[in-house]
Amino acid sequence: MAEETIFSKIIRREIPADILFQDELVTAFRDINAQAPSHILIIPNHLIPTVNDVKASDEKALGRMMTVAAKLAEEEGIAEDGYRLIMNCNKHGGQEVYHIHMHLVGGRPLGRMLA
Ligand code: 5GP
Repeated sequence: MAEETIFSKIIRREIPADILFQDELVTAFRDINAQAPSHILIIPNHLIPTVNDVKASDEKALGRMMTVAAKLAEEEGIAEDGYRLIMNCNKHGGQEVYHIHMHLVGGRPLGRMLA
């Protein structure tokens, strides 16, 4: 059984976060250490530690993460200029929180580098 992270507490609203969207599958909230004018984390409500742990039964939540990303990009006013979606996996990917999350980053030019 995987260990819960701080993100489970955010989903349950046990600790504060700037939550922008929540439904039965996913939650989206602003990153506490924003790297750009818009930096939002979109996560499944159920715990999946890393992308390596993704199962076919997770596909509905993972698909919802994408549609919520597009909706929030529109709401943030960054859809037309563009943005980046990032998912880090394990040590070499730079993953710090072991509850998968999609970073939605935009609001400034991000350059061509991946990291
Ligand atoms: P990772 O490096 O795992 O891909 O990214 C984890 C992200 O979670 C980081 O960008 C970090 O700033 C963010 N983060 C970590 N703890 C918290 C928290 O308690 N609240 C919020 N809103 N973001 C967090």
